[in-house]
Amino acid sequence: MSIVENINKINNEISETATLVAVSKTKPNESIHEAYDFGQRIFGENKVQELVQKYEELPKDIEWHLIGHLQTNKVKFIAPFISLIHAVDSFKLLKEINKQAIKNNRIINCLLQVKIAEEESKFGLTKNEVEDIINSEEIKEFKGINIAGLMGMATNSSDKDQVKEEFNSLNNFFTQLKTQHPTLNILSMGMSGDYKIAIEQGSNMIRVGSTIFGGRL
Ligand SMILES: *Cc1c(COP(=O)(O)O)cnc(C)c1O
Repeated sequence: MSIVENINKINNEISETATLVAVSKTKPNESIHEAYDFGQRIFGENKVQELVQKYEELPKDIEWHLIGHLQTNKVKFIAPFISLIHAVDSFKLLKEINKQAIKNNRIINCLLQVKIAEEESKFGLTKNEVEDIINSEEIKEFKGINIAGLMGMATNSSDKDQVKEEFNSLNNFFTQLKTQHPTLNILSMGMSGDYKIAIEQGSNMIRVGSTIFGGRL
C-alpha cells in the first residue's frame, strides 16, 4: 500500500481519539512530501541533525516532534522551531530546554518519558521521579516550558497482555497526575506494533513509522 493509503487506514482506525505523529526518521523528503500533500502535518524524528536538516528543506507549516532521546548540548539546535519534545527524561534537560526556549522567545511543549517497559531500557523516569519533577518549586519558575503530558514505550514483545498492562499502568498514572495538574493533556503511547492496544488503554497520541513509510534498514 502507498504512504497515503497507510495513513488513511490508521486515521480510520483511530478515528478522532488520537493524534497521529508520522515517524519519518531515516526516510527521504519525497516520502514526507507524499504524506504532506495528503494533509499530514505532524512528523516525528529521533535524531537532532536529521531533524534540523528536514526542517530546513521541507514546508514551514510542518509541526516537528522530537521523539527520541535528546542530549542537553543539542537542545539549542531545535529550540527555534520544535513543536513537541516527547522524551524528556531529566530535570537537567528540562532546565536547558527552558533556557533555550527563553532565548528564542518561545514556550516549548515537553512530555516526560516514563519507564514502563519491563526490559532494561536506558531512558525514562520512574513514576516517583516524574512526581518529584512536576511538583518541584523550581519547575514553576520555568517560563519557557510547558509540560504537556507523558510518553511511554511498552516492552517490545508479542505478549499482548504484557503490553496492555504496561500501557494501562501509564494511563492510570497519567489520569491520577492530571487531577492535580489539569494542564497535562497528552498521553503519547503506541507505535506500529502496538498502537491499537495503546489506544484501547487511553493513548491520545501515537507515533507510527514503519506502518506508514515501510521498514527501516
Ligand atoms: C522509531 C520510533 C517510533 C516508530 O516506530 P515504528 O515501529 O516504526 O512505528 C516511535 N517512537 C519512538 C520513540 C521511536 O524511536
